[in-house]
Amino acid sequence: MSDIFQSAALSEYQKSASQIATGKDSLVALKKSYERYDNLIAKAINDSTTKPACKAGCAFCCHYKVEARAHEMLLIRDYMGKTFTAEKIETVLAEAKANAAIIRSITPEQHLTTNLKCALLQDNQCSIYPVRPFRCRNFHSTDANACEQSHNDPHNMEIATGMIEDVAIYADAHTQGFEAAAEQTGRDARIYDFNTALIEVFTEPNALKRYKTGKKTFPNAIEVI
Ligand code: SF4
Repeated sequence: MSDIFQSAALSEYQKSASQIATGKDSLVALKKSYERYDNLIAKAINDSTTKPACKAGCAFCCHYKVEARAHEMLLIRDYMGKTFTAEKIETVLAEAKANAAIIRSITPEQHLTTNLKCALLQDNQCSIYPVRPFRCRNFHSTDANACEQSHNDPHNMEIATGMIEDVAIYADAHTQGFEAAAEQTGRDARIYDFNTALIEVFTEPNALKRYKTGKKTFPNAIEVI
C-alpha cells in the first residue's frame, strides 16, 4: 500500500469519524466527505500531466453496473425529493424497475457485460451529479475512444480505458477512509445494487430507521456480497 494511499485514507477516516460521532446525521458527514473528495481529486488532476478525457455529455460509463451504500441512496432520495418533480421521480423509478427486471434475470457476472442506461442519466448528464455515489465519482478515463469501444463491445473485458494513477489512488483511499468511519457506527454498511436499492429507497417506509439500527435498509434490494 502506497504512502499517499495510507495518508489520504487515514486523513479522511479521522475527519469522517469525528463528524459522524458528533453530528446528528451521517448524511451530513457524507455530503462533507463528497466536498473534500471533489477538492482532493481536483488537486490531483491539476498536479497531473495527464488529464482525464471525461467531459459533460460523455456518458458511456453510466451504462455500467453501479453499486452503492445505504447512506448514499438515502442522500440521493433527499436530493431527488428536493429537486425533482413527482412526475420526474415516477419516470426514474419506472426506468429503474425496467433495469431491475433485467438485472434479476441475469447473473452478477452477466451484469458486468450488459449495458443498462442508468435510470438517473438524462440527456447524457447525471441528474443527481452533486450526490452521485462514490462508485460513480471514482470512475474516470484517459481515453474516450476506448470508453466508446467498451460500450459498443461490452463482452470485451480486455479494453483498457486508462486511468491517472494518483487520481485513482486518492479516489480509492478517500472512499475507503469514509467507509471505514461509517462502518464503525453500527449502521447498515451493506453494498447494494443501485437500481434495486433506488426503487426501495422510495418504497420502504422504514428505510432510515432500518439503516440507523444496522438492519438491511432495503430488504428486497440485491445485496452485493
Ligand atoms: S448515478 Fe449519475 S454518474 Fe452514476 S451511473 Fe447514474 S447517471 Fe451516471
